[in-house]
Amino acid sequence: MDKMILTPGPVEVAEPVRFAMAKPILNPDLDLDFFDFYENLCGKLKKLLHTQNDVLVLNGEGILGLEAAVVNLVQPGETVLVLDNGFFGRGFADFVTGCGGKVVFLSKDYNEAITAEEIRQALIEHPEIKVATMVHCDTPSGMLNPVGELARVCRERGVISVVDAVASMAGEKIELDDWQIDIVIGGSQKALSAPPGLTILAISQQAWQKMLEREIPYGGYYLNLVTWKNGWLAGTKEFPYTMPISDLYALEEAVNRALAEGEGLYARHRMVASAVRETLSRAGFQLMPRQDCRAVTVTAIMVPLGIDDERFRRQLWKKYGVMIGGSWGSLAGKVWRIGHMGEGARPEKLFRFFDAFEKNLRDFKREPYPMAAVFAELYQESEI
Ligand SMILES: *Cc1c(COP(=O)(O)O)cnc(C)c1O
Repeated sequence: MDKMILTPGPVEVAEPVRFAMAKPILNPDLDLDFFDFYENLCGKLKKLLHTQNDVLVLNGEGILGLEAAVVNLVQPGETVLVLDNGFFGRGFADFVTGCGGKVVFLSKDYNEAITAEEIRQALIEHPEIKVATMVHCDTPSGMLNPVGELARVCRERGVISVVDAVASMAGEKIELDDWQIDIVIGGSQKALSAPPGLTILAISQQAWQKMLEREIPYGGYYLNLVTWKNGWLAGTKEFPYTMPISDLYALEEAVNRALAEGEGLYARHRMVASAVRETLSRAGFQLMPRQDCRAVTVTAIMVPLGIDDERFRRQLWKKYGVMIGGSWGSLAGKVWRIGHMGEGARPEKLFRFFDAFEKNLRDFKREPYPMAAVFAELYQESEI
């Protein structure tokens, strides 16, 4: 039986991307061609994100990028606005307190997006705040925040915006320069569909300025972004440490594929997401969050009463070879998540998921509903 993962990251990696990792290993510290390769890769990512800002790819998955952004920007004692309407949104607070910063939460129900007006009010109430953190797609609940609108409010007020786009990049379109986000962070293992292990950061001049003007410079080495600014980005042809060359080869292949698909990439995500949700609603599942703020990369549904989350998902994997996600924090045990990002956002995979899901539900003594057939019909309709 072929196993298939439809978790909201890591996602399946396509064969050409896996094969790219088998290329010969050259010396990334010394080989001039590798410098060109790295620069080129960052150029392609700029294209994907619609930005002129500096782009870096660092060794370590999304969390490393999030922590790097915060610890480089935030000085001890400084207050940060943390937008909290999801698990990862709230999670930024740990990075802030970890480097001696203070947190002001802008908290909201995990079913609703944060609005431009709400962030404006919070920044007016706290004029001392110079950094705000937020999440584009908060994966544990499938929440999509309008980060373009939120970041523009930050820019108007001279506040640096930090956006976790790990679970949205290459699934939801990101127009970085237009949106005026100061630091956006992506990961290789989500919609980009490369192996886990890399994080992508796009950094504005305003963000660099904030880092460079700190009274107390950031003291760490591995996460230090200023080292990159004064080194690699200043043209020294030097990396602060050896680059993970095979992971980068894979990421390049994945980015090539995303760019080649163009607008079709986003259309595919929208069509799959909409057919998945309609199918689940018709089958009687309760979806979250509210309809107007659902990211196209993941669907979250409430676990039906009387079904044990872990047992159900374990059997789905063992007996039918399909893996979906549970959730985290306050949603643990209560929510299932179907990832349809990147390589996961393919109708044939979701057809197989629904077929297995249907059978597993029947095993758990639930009324049968022809979800696979309904999904296929809905998806075909959306193609016309
Ligand atoms: C996956 C993800 C990350 C990275 O988390 P890992 O669990 O380490 O992969 C960060 N933010 C969001 C919103 C994510 O979905």
